[in-house]
Amino acid sequence: MDNTLTNQIRNRVDIVDIIGERIPLTAKGKNFFGVCPFHDDTNPSMSVSREKQIYTCFSCKNKSIHVFHVTQQEMYLHF
Ligand SMILES: [Zn+2]
Repeated sequence: MDNTLTNQIRNRVDIVDIIGERIPLTAKGKNFFGVCPFHDDTNPSMSVSREKQIYTCFSCKNKSIHVFHVTQQEMYLHF
């Protein structure tokens, strides 16, 4: 994986927008919370940080790498 490309994607894309397109997010303080798509979630346990451009699920411990995989795959499809 080309680190430069990854950094460009990171700088251009707002993680809150990407996740917000897929699941409803609620703003609480500095972070946004939503229902985690990676496990059987009923209470919003996924926290999204616009400041850090990461998300963390407190239940299944998924990390933001998933979002960047999804984004990169979608970009390849568009090309
Ligand atoms: Zn989860």
